[in-house]
Amino acid sequence: MQVNGGTELVGIIGYPIHYTLSPLMHNAAFRALGMNWIYLPLRVPPGEVASALGGLRSLGFRGANVTIPHKVEVVGFLDDLKGDADLLGAVNTVVKEEERLMGYNTDVAGFIAFLHETQIEVEGASALIFGAGGAARAVVLALLREGASRIYIMNRTASRARELKTALKRATSHSDISERAFDYEGSRVLNQCGLVVNCTPLAVDDKNELPLEYGDFTGGQWAVDLNYAGRGTAFLKEASSRGANTANGEGMLLHQAAASFRLWTGENPPEEEMRQALKEVIYGKGQAG
Ligand code: NAP
Repeated sequence: MQVNGGTELVGIIGYPIHYTLSPLMHNAAFRALGMNWIYLPLRVPPGEVASALGGLRSLGFRGANVTIPHKVEVVGFLDDLKGDADLLGAVNTVVKEEERLMGYNTDVAGFIAFLHETQIEVEGASALIFGAGGAARAVVLALLREGASRIYIMNRTASRARELKTALKRATSHSDISERAFDYEGSRVLNQCGLVVNCTPLAVDDKNELPLEYGDFTGGQWAVDLNYAGRGTAFLKEASSRGANTANGEGMLLHQAAASFRLWTGENPPEEEMRQALKEVIYGKGQAG
């Protein structure tokens, strides 16, 4: 990749940002298509979103991804919101269209593409969701679109679960969303659910901090963790040992990135190259498949 005066700029604003895998995927895509573009990690502390957007504008960036903790705050500083970003009040992709900064949300499409690719059947199923942050909102909207019949939300801060429910009930008339207490009793609906999705940063390492009675898995259900760790997250390991099918967050990450790439460049994203770059860093070279 040769950076020169004609190089187009995109990036990701977040804090912290050292963990992000997005530059790897996007720069692999630009290389594969021979595009003179570069994707940069942009460390933007809380409270600096407005000035960061001014910087993107004046430095001629074509757009940016937005991640923790800015997905909601950024909404107030954009010129307009499109599609799911408007419905969710959360933005993960900013696109400069002429001189206007527009907010999009590709997490919903990313999760739906992941469900299809993994052949997880959602129509008519019940789902248990841990979390009510930006990612959970996108996941719940995706499940509603795919025809889930009942969604249970468990979140540490009950008021956020209620806000999510209210915001998304507008999205559909036929699904039933209800909150459950963030404790072991709350999770006892697990045996009625075909799908459990962890949309919190809990139970990634060895500690099982999720209030979940794993013995209630009945086998054959899906456990999905939006986090990814080469050796598997604690949640997925426990669920798998009780007979659940498991998947981590790399599919959603790949597909939301591919959708952002399409919005910025207008090109079809080279998904296999992006996937390979992602797998190499998660699982190590030689084990990436
Ligand atoms: P967020 O908006 O900050 O929401 C975080 C959620 O986790 C909230 O529901 C929060 O509960 C809960 N939480 C955080 N720390 C907790 C703790 N110590 N105990 C109990 N609950 C806790 O973040 P987000 O964007 O939704 O991201 C959530 C997770 O999904 C992160 O791990 C992120 O890396 C992952 N993610 C993956 C993808 C992907 O493409 N694979 C995309 C987006 C996010 P409260 O409401 O009570 O604070």
